[in-house]
Amino acid sequence: MSGDRAPALVFSHSDLIQYHVSDSTPVDPQSKKGYQERFIHSEIYKRFPEINSVIHSHSEAVLPYTMNGVAMKPTFHIAGFLGTHVPIYDIVPMYSEDDQQDMLVNSCRFGDSLASKFSSSGVGDLEHKVVLMANHGFTTVGTSIKQAVYRAIYTQVNATVQTNAITLRNAALGAGIGVEGELQYLNAKQVKGSLKMNDASQDRPWKLWIEEVEACGLYKNESKSTPSNETTRK
Ligand SMILES: [Zn+2]
Repeated sequence: MSGDRAPALVFSHSDLIQYHVSDSTPVDPQSKKGYQERFIHSEIYKRFPEINSVIHSHSEAVLPYTMNGVAMKPTFHIAGFLGTHVPIYDIVPMYSEDDQQDMLVNSCRFGDSLASKFSSSGVGDLEHKVVLMANHGFTTVGTSIKQAVYRAIYTQVNATVQTNAITLRNAALGAGIGVEGELQYLNAKQVKGSLKMNDASQDRPWKLWIEEVEACGLYKNESKSTPSNETTRK
């Protein structure tokens, strides 16, 4: 994982820290400070060996669905991986009186508890691809980086679409404009069908996202930099 810097500012191999999956301790005991929430990653990898990528986000579009009782639902086919139910992990009941209640998943105990929400039974089978985190954000997983990024981006897009749909409906009702029927989301059959399609159609957006990252100028990679550039960044 990246060390104590925003992932977008990771430049070289020396910006990365390797951790043991078993307890999130650094492989190199001399390594610099790292992310406190690395336990999110290690505990998910530990519980679900088929998972190779974990993404944790504080997305502002998703946050409202973690705190006000409005359930996140799959609004369109691209977000079928959400399933018909997106669980919410709440860290607060795990706190004891003296804990610093900063919401961070910064221990094996908290990480293990979050990881268990990806499965209804709490054990080995990964049932949910996304878990919301109360007043905090969300975490998603994939068997590849590509799959996890796809799910992270479209979880955020789905939240925006759902918010717009609810806002539009309520505005229309408030204005006395006729609204026909209920607000519709994907049902279980459509979710199942879309999930297969989602996994089969990730290459197209993935190639675009890579181009966007390379073109935006913020992300720099040591292996692609000129020597003078390298000196500047170091
Ligand atoms: Zn966080």
